[in-house]
Amino acid sequence: MNMKIAIIGAGPAGIFTSFFLREFSGEVVLFEQNADIGEKLKLTGGGKMNITNSDFSCEKFSSENERLLKNLFKSPWVRNRENLFDELGMKYKWEGSRAILAGESAMDEVERLREVLRKQKNLNIFTGCKVVDAGRMDDGRMDEERIGEKFFVKFVMGGEEKNEVFDFLIMASGGMFRIKDMGSAEKLYKIPLSFGHSITKLRPSLCPILLPKNPLKDLAGISFKGCVFCPENKLKVCGDILITHSGISGPAVLDFSSMISGGKFELCFIENLNEENFQKEFWKNRDGKILVKNFLHKFLPNRICDFLMLKNGIANDLKIADINKEIFKKLSKDLFHYEFIDAKLSEYQFAWTTKGGVPLNEINVATFESRLCKNLYFVGEILDANGLCGGYNISFAAISGKIASEGILKNLK
Ligand SMILES: Cc1cc2nc3c(=O)[nH]c(=O)nc-3n(C[C@H](O)[C@H](O)[C@H](O)COP(=O)(O)OP(=O)(O)OC[C@H]3O[C@@H](n4cnc5c(N)ncnc54)[C@H](O)[C@@H]3O)c2cc1C
Repeated sequence: MNMKIAIIGAGPAGIFTSFFLREFSGEVVLFEQNADIGEKLKLTGGGKMNITNSDFSCEKFSSENERLLKNLFKSPWVRNRENLFDELGMKYKWEGSRAILAGESAMDEVERLREVLRKQKNLNIFTGCKVVDAGRMDDGRMDEERIGEKFFVKFVMGGEEKNEVFDFLIMASGGMFRIKDMGSAEKLYKIPLSFGHSITKLRPSLCPILLPKNPLKDLAGISFKGCVFCPENKLKVCGDILITHSGISGPAVLDFSSMISGGKFELCFIENLNEENFQKEFWKNRDGKILVKNFLHKFLPNRICDFLMLKNGIANDLKIADINKEIFKKLSKDLFHYEFIDAKLSEYQFAWTTKGGVPLNEINVATFESRLCKNLYFVGEILDANGLCGGYNISFAAISGKIASEGILKNLK
């Protein structure tokens, strides 16, 4: 009898794994609760999909188990990850350190992948199909015939509840994307828990930071190159920062959010100059007729400059020569150490990824198979391995999918 593989979730991890299993001689069923595959993938990279990064190391990922993360990075597929995208037929180009789609939008790319999968003879895609439970046939929950190591998958499709039996189960159900109801977390991770797995502490990651009573509200919409800094653990991330109505966002802030959990931190409005050099440069001009405003405009967008001058009571026509030293000190502090207290990470609806998941010590990182249950695999964001912005997470979906599918195919030979 033909063997069957169930893959729960058609995000990049589920899509790629399905494709990498194209030589599997049995049947693969890909379950997706949404009406289409890759809904989240369509939004990635602002529509251009950052697929990987040339600066790809385990330091760009976080996990409660750093040792196993390091082991996982020894896989040749980490080094050869570009081959995976070539195998998938994805056309990409390099923009700085990031590989993004060469032509099409993320939406078009998902459409192309959907067509590729549709033609895959061993694959059935069940969209609009929510998996509500899964377990071992012999775990006592099924009335039907108990076949040792097989899995049951219970799902709802077209309003009807159904069951199917599988030889392998691959969990690719991602994280808490767009989850408004925090209580539903339990439902999402119920399946790994039912196999005896644990889930490390979950929290939104790669998300905007909310500032109480946002003091920068009037600057909403402005982006600049700056840094976010946590003095407590000396953590600093520099790059593009966007001011929003409720706080700050942009790539540097998203990366920073994956490393802190809120609290106290500072914003620096100037990326490529330290405070000391800025002050030296400023005072070099004290004998001339240069206006404070014109000097600041060299480093900052006009609106940020006007905002900080107003905050510190500096008149538009004040010359550097005439500034009070105490006021300059305050201005300089605001520029390099604008402090926020009680900042919070935004909720899952606004987070790109979920930090935490199935712990790496509960899987074999060389195969992605569960250590607790034979023929059960975990791939992608459901695992406790969370990458920064810039193509790390899509790459992780591809790498984990490839290693898991290779493991299954090799075992069957
Ligand atoms: C706006 C945005 C931009 C991003 N940009 C990038 C980027 O440019 N580069 C990058 O590397 N990463 C990016 N990310 C992160 C990246 O999209 C995720 O890390 C990646 O999608 C995770 O892949 P996954 O397949 O593991 O999970 P997901 O993409 O979340 O897919 C899981 C799938 O499982 C389905 N599912 C869950 N439970 C069930 C169930 N019970 N029954 C059936 N189906 C179920 C879900 O509907 C979902 O489709 C971005 C994320 C967002 C939100």
